[in-house]
Amino acid sequence: MTKIIDGKLIANKLKHDLKNEIIQLKQKYNKVPGLAVVQVGNVAASSVYVNAKTKSANEVGINVIDHHLDDNVTEDELINLIKKLNTHNEVDGILVQLPLPKHVDEQIILDTIHPNKDADGFHPLNVGKLSISSKNENNLLIPCTPLGCILMLKSLNLELKGKNAVVIGRSNIVGKPMVQLLLKESCTVTIAHSKTENLEKICSTADILVAAVGKPEIVKENWVKENAIVIDVGINRIQKKINGEIKNKLVGDVDFSQVKEKVFAISPVPGGVGPMTIACLLINTTTAFKNKISKNY
Ligand code: NAD
Repeated sequence: MTKIIDGKLIANKLKHDLKNEIIQLKQKYNKVPGLAVVQVGNVAASSVYVNAKTKSANEVGINVIDHHLDDNVTEDELINLIKKLNTHNEVDGILVQLPLPKHVDEQIILDTIHPNKDADGFHPLNVGKLSISSKNENNLLIPCTPLGCILMLKSLNLELKGKNAVVIGRSNIVGKPMVQLLLKESCTVTIAHSKTENLEKICSTADILVAAVGKPEIVKENWVKENAIVIDVGINRIQKKINGEIKNKLVGDVDFSQVKEKVFAISPVPGGVGPMTIACLLINTTTAFKNKISKNY
């Protein structure tokens, strides 16, 4: 029977372990990790994500410092806030919720975050470290979504070494770091994207298929190999006719009902990668805190 990779369950286990770790860190150092969350404007989806991240951080004992700024904040004002947070003693991780308003250059803002406090793992220095690091370094700040995906794969307790992995999507926040993480597991990795020819054929060679496209249910049954493992990163809001009524629905990049019949394991949407992404943000914040303590900066 197909295994459904329950991201919610795995994330809850990770958060439970993290909570215990933070209790121990507090006993030892009389301090807890601190996460600064910066949101600009009132994009509804951003508010949902920020609330979920704040709630989970509080649950594990991370101290959250919220900065909710007006839509019309200038780039300079935002840069100044990040610079202050960079030197703030009680802030170990800084998260800037994307997207930012059009008049602000996202890359400039992300690059302003000190690499040691880069809770999302997007800073070029951390991106570089991820690509050159050896397998077992546990002090890296790694983009949360691909880290969540790799932890889901590891939860299956299968040998990943030598497996053919295909990642669809080459974004900086998901596709590219996913490739690095799969390489670290000694997978043979192919990265596909919007200009890839014969996408379907390439996907059908994958023992592990990671879909990070942003196109609702693009991956069909004939795209996947029998007994493959499929991780669906996509989050797409669509309208679907259910019992004659048009309803809003959240679907992934994989046609779940078709594909699940054929594969060994698959992550659902919702309840798959989403909760893992949040858990990994908390892991990164705690990693940054431990790095600070061990290096005494
Ligand atoms: P993106 O738009 O930055 O990148 C999409 C990638 O898909 C691009 O590299 C593009 O080349 C590729 N692509 C587009 N159309 C394609 C096609 N027809 N065939 C093959 N490749 C194609 O998106 P992203 O930020 O990487 O996110 C991808 C999806 O993952 C989105 O649905 C997003 O909402 C979701 N996401 C989920 C989480 C989570 O926590 N679950 C986190 C980040 C992103």
